[in-house]
Order: sequence, then C-alpha cells, then structure tokens
Amino acid sequence: MKTVSSLKEMFEFSRKVKDRGQTIALVPTMGALHEGHLSLITAAKKKADIVIVSIFVNPLQFGQNEDLKKYPRRLKDDQNKLKPFDPITIFTPGEKDFTPAALAAGIEVEILSKPLCGKARPGHFRGVATIVAKLFNITQPNYAFFGEKDYQQQLIIKKMTKDLSYNIEVFSLPTVREYDGLAMSSRNIYLNERERSAAPILYKALNHAKDIIEKGEKDARRINLIIAQLLGREPLVKIEYVGVVDPETLEETKEIKGKILIAIAANIGQTRLIDNLIVNAK
Ligand code: AMP
Repeated sequence: MKTVSSLKEMFEFSRKVKDRGQTIALVPTMGALHEGHLSLITAAKKKADIVIVSIFVNPLQFGQNEDLKKYPRRLKDDQNKLKPFDPITIFTPGEKDFTPAALAAGIEVEILSKPLCGKARPGHFRGVATIVAKLFNITQPNYAFFGEKDYQQQLIIKKMTKDLSYNIEVFSLPTVREYDGLAMSSRNIYLNERERSAAPILYKALNHAKDIIEKGEKDARRINLIIAQLLGREPLVKIEYVGVVDPETLEETKEIKGKILIAIAANIGQTRLIDNLIVNAK
C-alpha cells in the first residue's frame, strides 16, 4: 500500500497513471475512517484502475470555535482499514504544504453555500471547495466519490465541477448507518453513552417526516414544526436548523411537491451532527 505525502510525488504518480492510459478515482476524506468511507472506496475500486484516498483534516473548513484540534487523527488505524483494498494509494498532504497561511485563492460556490450548514458555518464550504479543487488538480481523477450524508457538500462539489469544467465524473453515494439508524460519522466517537443513545432521534425525526409527507402532508412549515417538536422531546438535542428544501437549489419549500430534501443539523451535547433524507411526495 502506497502512502504519499509530497504534492510533487502525488502529481507525478497521477501523471504516470494517466500516461499509461489508466483511470483514477479519488475519495477525499478527513480520516478516522468508518464504513461510510469504505462504501465510497468500494465503489471507487469498481469504477477505476487506481484509487486514491486522501486523508487530510482540512483547517479551512473549520470555524474558530469548532473541533479542529480535537478532530480524530489516526493514520495507522486508517492504513489498517485500507489494507483489504490494496492496491490503493493514500494521499496525506502536510498541512503547511497544502494550506499555507498565505493561501489567498479560493473557490466560492455561491448561493448553494449560503443556506443550511452555510448559515452557522460561514466560510465552511469555501474551505471544502478550495481543498477539493486542489485535490482534483493534484490527483487528476477521472472519478470522485462523495457521500450523501453531507448532501449540501456533494451538491456544491458537483456544481463546482460543472462550472469550472473539471473533466471529472462526481458520484454521490447513500449514507451508511449504524444498526439504530444513526448516520456513521467520524464525530460519533465524541458522544458519551447517554448522547449516543439520544443521537438516532435525528434519523427517527426524518423518517417520521417522510411518513407524514407520504400520507399527503403538503405544508413544509408544518413538517418543520413536527420535526422540531419531536427533536425537542430529547433534552440533549439542540437544533441548529431543520430544512425542508428543494434538493437541487436548496431553496426553502412552502408547498411540498415531488422530490424534497429534509435536512437537520443539531448539537448533541458538544457534538454537531447532521443528517438528511430525500422524500418523494405524491
Ligand atoms: P469526512 O471524512 O467526514 O470528510 O467524509 C469523507 C467523505 O465520506 C465525504 O464525501 C462524506 O460525505 C462521506 N461520508 C461520511 N460519512 C458517511 C456515511 N455515513 N455514509 C456515506 N458516506 C459518508
């Protein structure tokens, strides 16, 4: 298994792969790998000759009071989890190399970056898009894989790819969940026992909303209220937002018709969790 840290070495590796006429799939991650990440890697292995998994805790996407310092970093563990996928290439750029303090250029995907997570995390998606663009430029992938768990993120990456004419096919894959519905996340390890047992309420609330919509409820405001009430029953949950929005534009919906996205962000204790569900209304 190959682990590359140098940008130059990564450039050269990708160029050689391309020169040989082989295809590359990129799976960008922040490490602390779990089954959600591994599902993306499994799909990437099926699609391309060479798979590159980047592991980089991206400082640009963390706000000032967020968990950058304590975010789990476990490269050895991650390498072990990736062994069954060998041959596979791990790209672990160094922070100073990859995000120098003087970094002035950045990618802004306007409009899509403003609602939902963008409200409480200004600059977050600029940080994500900028790093993904750098990863695209360095690894030169034919394909890139993202999770629907971070729905807004994959939408922004698809828009960036299209608007900036990257010749890359971007795939988004379904959320992998724990036995009780909790969306897998590297942040779940922060949860204490009490918080962990409260956390599946996010997915329960999403499913409850889905049931109601499928029974004919059309009023997005009512759905929003019902979710907020349900989450409000769990004292450990502090809602950041509940969104009932158009899945393409992320604009708030008033009357539910066709496909809609229901998205939640909430703090459980000190841990910020997000989850979402696409619902097909009649
Ligand atoms: P992260 O390491 O959290 O930045 O995630 C790296 C990639 O894995 C992103 O594209 C995420 O959307 C995706 N991902 C994270 N959690 C899951 C999950 N539970 N199921 C599927 N994909 C996921």
